[in-house]
Amino acid sequence: MKYYDVHGKRLPIPSFFQVYNYGGGNGDKDREIVYSEFTGNTPALINYYYINNRYPHLFQSRMFDDLSGYSKVGDLYNDIRRKLIDQKGEIYSGYKSREYDFNCKVFLLDSGAFNIVKYIAESVDYDISRFKEALIGHMRDYYDFADRLKFDIVVGFDLGGKYTEKDNEKGNKRLRDLLAGIDAEKVNDILLEETVRYLSSKGSYYPHVLAPVHGATPEDYAACTERILALEKAYSCEFWGFALGGIASYRQVDDSWYGDIDFRKTGKSGTIETVTPARASMIVRKRAGSRPIHALGCGGYPNIAMNYFCGATSFDAASPVRRVGDGSLESTRLVFDPCPHRKVGFSRYFVGGIDMDGTMREEPCTYVRLNEVDDNMSLCGCPACKEAGSIRNIKKLYSMKSSDNEANYFSRQLMGLHAVNQHRKLCEVIADYASFYDFCKAYPNTLNTRLKEIYRQL
Ligand SMILES: [Zn+2]
Repeated sequence: MKYYDVHGKRLPIPSFFQVYNYGGGNGDKDREIVYSEFTGNTPALINYYYINNRYPHLFQSRMFDDLSGYSKVGDLYNDIRRKLIDQKGEIYSGYKSREYDFNCKVFLLDSGAFNIVKYIAESVDYDISRFKEALIGHMRDYYDFADRLKFDIVVGFDLGGKYTEKDNEKGNKRLRDLLAGIDAEKVNDILLEETVRYLSSKGSYYPHVLAPVHGATPEDYAACTERILALEKAYSCEFWGFALGGIASYRQVDDSWYGDIDFRKTGKSGTIETVTPARASMIVRKRAGSRPIHALGCGGYPNIAMNYFCGATSFDAASPVRRVGDGSLESTRLVFDPCPHRKVGFSRYFVGGIDMDGTMREEPCTYVRLNEVDDNMSLCGCPACKEAGSIRNIKKLYSMKSSDNEANYFSRQLMGLHAVNQHRKLCEVIADYASFYDFCKAYPNTLNTRLKEIYRQL
C-alpha cells in the first residue's frame, strides 16, 4: 500500500480522518476518546476552535485551559482519555479498557475558521480595517499553536466558505454587513501570502501545511490553485499539499459544479453530493503534481472512492459518529421493536460495506435505525464489532440507558466506531485498484453501480 511518511508515521493513500470533536460537544464526544482503541491508528482531524478556550464556546473542556505543559498533541489526548476514564468514570463497567497511545495517530489541525471569524468580528466591534489586522494576528497564533503541540499536518488559516448564506447568521446583522463588505477572495489571498511569509520566516516549522483552496465555481477553484502555485514560486516556498474547502455541501455551492450531470438513471439522493468534491479533486490534482490533497468534510461513504480516483488522497467526515447521536431516551425502550407505533429517533448503524476479510457485504450501504437491524445480522469483523459480538448485544446495551447510562454510551460507540472502521476499510480496498471501474467490477454493489454512472460524466 502506498503511503506518505508523516514525521515517521505512515499515512496511507488514501486515508479517512476520524473527526474528534471533544470540546465541541459532550456525551458521545467524551466516549469517542475513551474508546479510541477501537479505531487504532486511524488518523484524526481536530478542530482548533473546539480545543482552544481563548474562544469561548459551549461545551468547552477545562482540559484545554492550560496547554503549556504539552509539547505533543498525542500526550494531551492521552491525558484527556485517562481523566475521562479514571476521574470522570465515563466508561462501561462491563468493559475492561485497553492500553492506548494517541501518539500512533497522524493529527491534522483545522482552524474551524467560521467560528473564529465570528469571534474576531465581535472583538473588534465589526470594524473592517481592525478586523483584517486582527485576523492576521489570530492566524499567526494558530500556526504557533500547531507548532507547539507538534500537530503533524495543519490546514492553512482562511475565512472558510460562504458566510452570508449560513442560516444561523441571518439574525446577526452587523456580522452579515461586515462579511458583505469584505472581498473574501482578496482576504483569503492576503492570508495565504501572510502564511507563506510566516513559514519562510520560521526556520523549522514542524507541521506539514496544506494550502486551502476555495472558489464559488470550478473556474474560481482552478484560478485559486494557480494563485497558490504562483505564490509558491514568488517566495520559493512549497506547501506540503492542498486542502479543498467549501465543497462539502452541494447546497452551498454554485450549481455550475453539478448542473450538467444527468441524474435520471441514478437519482440525486446519495449521488449529487459526490460531484463537487470529485470535480474539485480533479481540478487541483491536474495542477498539484503528486502532492497530498485533503478534501475537507468530504469523507462520507459514497464520496470516498469518487474522491480518490479523482485525485484526493485523504478526507474526513463527522457523519459516521454523528449518526449515533439521533438516539433518544425513548428509543432505548423500544429498540427491540422493529416498527414502533410512534415516530422515535434511533441511533443508526452502518450496514453494507466490506467485511474486514475483504468480502463485499450484501446489504446496500446505508445507515439503518438500530431497531430495524436484524438481531442476527453478521458483523464486519472490525475491532468494535469483535467487541460487540452481535447486534443483539448492541441492542441490549443500548436498552440499558435508564439503569446504566454508560452501557448505552458504549453501545453507541460500538456503532459509531464500526462505521469509522468501514470508512477506513473502503480506503484500504480501493488503494488496490488502478481505476474506479476496476474497483466497481470487483465490488458491484448498488452504490458503486450508481456512482459509476456519475463518474462517467465528470
Ligand atoms: Zn464493524
